[in-house]
Amino acid sequence: MVKTTVSVIKADVGSYPGHSRTHPKLLEVAARMLKEAEGSTIIDSYVTHCGDDLELIMTHTKGEDNEEIHELAWNIFMECANVAKEMKLYGAGQDLLADAFSGNVKGMGPGVAEMEFEERGSDPVLVFMADKTEPGAWNYYLYKMFADPFSTSGLVIDPSMHQGFVFEVHDVMEKRKILFNTPEESYSLLAYIGAPSRYVIKYVWKKDGTIAASTSTQRLNLMAGRYVGKDDPVMIVRAQGGLPAVGEVIDPFRTPILVAGWMRGSHHGPFMPVGVPDANCTQFDGPPRVICLGFQVSDRKLIGPVDMFDDPAFNRVRDRCCELADVLRAHGPFEPHRLSLEEMEYTTLPGVEKQFKDRWEDLPE
Ligand SMILES: [Mg+2]
Repeated sequence: MVKTTVSVIKADVGSYPGHSRTHPKLLEVAARMLKEAEGSTIIDSYVTHCGDDLELIMTHTKGEDNEEIHELAWNIFMECANVAKEMKLYGAGQDLLADAFSGNVKGMGPGVAEMEFEERGSDPVLVFMADKTEPGAWNYYLYKMFADPFSTSGLVIDPSMHQGFVFEVHDVMEKRKILFNTPEESYSLLAYIGAPSRYVIKYVWKKDGTIAASTSTQRLNLMAGRYVGKDDPVMIVRAQGGLPAVGEVIDPFRTPILVAGWMRGSHHGPFMPVGVPDANCTQFDGPPRVICLGFQVSDRKLIGPVDMFDDPAFNRVRDRCCELADVLRAHGPFEPHRLSLEEMEYTTLPGVEKQFKDRWEDLPE
């Protein structure tokens, strides 16, 4: 049985105006280069953007971390960065931290989520893409989808889901990983993933090993050692047939939560689900946005997409996000709108502190 791999690889290689959105010319170049690779390196592809991030969705049979696939994505990003430079787009080539490809795009700037699986009789796959936030933003939603019976009714009423799921959590600071079984270790899992700037869910599996979800965990600033923008994560989730239904995967996004990112990667803001036509970050370079494209994967072909959040059923969460944005924006430069000092270490703030470091005087004991 030949397995199917879905790879979602993204990078911000230039946008307009400022950090708002990817230029259509870049989408065109990327789509053409992927089309040329169809039938040889890859089988099918789809190109889109979320805000200023160029998103490449590919199917193939080469498994995760395949050099050819990663090189294809890298070459596309390099070509698009050149086009962006010619147009003097903002931040042209900003996520490409290396000069030359070296085997795997991980650690070179782009974000990567991949999953390899044996196609079922019918295989719905949802691809989530975010702008102006960090990989840990998915933690809350993955927990709701795969571990919260008040959100996913299948956990209670579908015997094929009763055993629960396994979560792989990465510690992006210490570069280590751990597995948690739910429901029995739900509280322990939450103890970690409730700190999404450090602990990030990488994979979710059924207990029989069936892959259910895969995310990008790359943190650009930790890689570059300086502020180069937020990481703007992607995520692949499979649905139905012993996994949450498509609607159960989508429903958690009905609740507006606050995530880190937004303006200058330095502010908390509401995570707003939008249709692709609204995936342009405008208000205060945001607020942080998420889009979701739904496909059926059929013999490695992408049937679709459906623009899942382009739906009036999500109007109210968008309104609530705007209300939350007002409350947070009223804080101006104050926390908790601005991130904690620990998180600000990876922004431009240390540059300001440096200017004043000699003006501080010790207080008497
Ligand atoms: Mg971005």
